[in-house]
Amino acid sequence: MLCRTPWWSWLWLCLPWLPAQEAPPAPNPATPQTPAPTTTADGKFPRPELGAPAPVPEGAPPHLRLIDRDTLRNHTYWLADDARAGRYTTSKAQQETVKYITAHFQKLGLKPLGDKKGFVQSYPLLRVQLDANTALQFGEHKISANFAVFGAKDDEKLSLSGRFAWCGNGSAEQVPPNLGGRLPVVALHKPPPMAGTSGDLQAVQRYRELGKRLRSAGATVGVVCLLADHSSLGNTLNYHGLLPDHPKLRTPNGGGGSGGEGDAVPLFILPAASGRLLLAHLGVSLDQDGAPAGAQTEDKASGKLSLTVKADDKALGSNVVAVLEGKSKKAEAVVFSAHHDHIGQRLDGDAFNGADDNASGTAGLLEIAEAFAKGGDRPERSIVFLSVSGEELGLWGSDWFGEHPTWPLDKIVANVNIDMIGRAGTDPQRIDLQVTPSHLHEKFSTLVREGVQLGKHFGITWSSGDQYYHRSDHYNFAKRGVPVVFFCDGEHPDYHQVGDHPDRLDYAKMEAIARLAFWSGWLAAQQKGRPQELGAQANW
Ligand SMILES: [Zn+2]
Repeated sequence: MLCRTPWWSWLWLCLPWLPAQEAPPAPNPATPQTPAPTTTADGKFPRPELGAPAPVPEGAPPHLRLIDRDTLRNHTYWLADDARAGRYTTSKAQQETVKYITAHFQKLGLKPLGDKKGFVQSYPLLRVQLDANTALQFGEHKISANFAVFGAKDDEKLSLSGRFAWCGNGSAEQVPPNLGGRLPVVALHKPPPMAGTSGDLQAVQRYRELGKRLRSAGATVGVVCLLADHSSLGNTLNYHGLLPDHPKLRTPNGGGGSGGEGDAVPLFILPAASGRLLLAHLGVSLDQDGAPAGAQTEDKASGKLSLTVKADDKALGSNVVAVLEGKSKKAEAVVFSAHHDHIGQRLDGDAFNGADDNASGTAGLLEIAEAFAKGGDRPERSIVFLSVSGEELGLWGSDWFGEHPTWPLDKIVANVNIDMIGRAGTDPQRIDLQVTPSHLHEKFSTLVREGVQLGKHFGITWSSGDQYYHRSDHYNFAKRGVPVVFFCDGEHPDYHQVGDHPDRLDYAKMEAIARLAFWSGWLAAQQKGRPQELGAQANW
């Protein structure tokens, strides 16, 4: 699911000034607490035992039996594996994901509905990326992987060999003057807590302030060591920075923000491990807590930083689209959608696995397709399966489909969208699910009302998900007049964090939600008329 504040919004968001001084960490209940990594000895996520699939509720289409927790789990584990590297749009791993989904649709005998009679629908993107020569060298070390760059211009090209200059925590008091020709080094140990999306914006602001301060002191570049607590300072680089195999992407019409600005230097940012190597090279000692404990003692320590950024218009985002033809009303279709992309890998190489967001919905889509294709009678209307990318960057894949529909938009009777369906509450007796447009929303429809009523077969407790009405792919159907229903478990402490691991999902609940989504779409495909708008209502 898309961030609350899209990543380019900092450009016009007015932020409070943030001191660059290190403040003692204060307890902040909103700070996500990610539990320690849970992997087995081979580095894989453990697979807890699942019970047998639930019986299909009475009166439900028999197809539902083909949607089972075991298969949902298998798909989710593949999609959320570290090898998928967080499925960043246009990355190698996202392209592998496209192949996986394509192979599944092909195996089911679905008809391709992408470009040139294939399953893949591509959309053009502008790309700003790091050249492979970008690296920091010092002593016998060359850091050319696991780093990030913040604030570089789209055509940045610099190469600087020189002595390092210790700038402490980067505060006004600790940055020395006359940094011309030097490589300034800043170390951030435990910065003040910055939580969630607003924390990301604060982190951006903080990097910007630092870049400006170094520029004022005559520097042309800065090196930042993130020694501990990556939280927002690390995570925000996936939205606002450049990492290897993680370009900044924009749509040709401008969606996606701008590059660096002239008043601040670009920052080359190291995670803890290589940051500590650099501090050792400078002779900066660390205390027991891992924080810098003194000044630079190796005054002649030098290094070389090469940074080249290049922009082109050669990148392609990709959706996978397939259709199962209906019977009596096959010209009309119900579209099931789920995004398969996520936000990539953090600068220290830890993947944002995106198990809930949105390996879960993608697994659901694959299972729903299987149930339609192999579970029994074909539906009256056709069913389109749409697996999109670019969602996390601004709902780009579904917007492209809306602008370049491979099924006529006026023949799409409904969109059922699933995004984050693996963590529907912690109470094992109850499935907590959000839905939008809710009964309080002006776009509330029979499609939503019937979906909510089906919830009683699965023990679902409903709440409004209207805060997400604009934040996932259904919106690109809704804004074009197609009735939509969006099922989502809502945000949790691992939302957009590296802890969104597949072993933290509840596959029994996921089975119920995917079955519910199938059934909702099935009704829309079978009914005589199309779903009707009801407008806001007093209750469901
Ligand atoms: Zn998301």
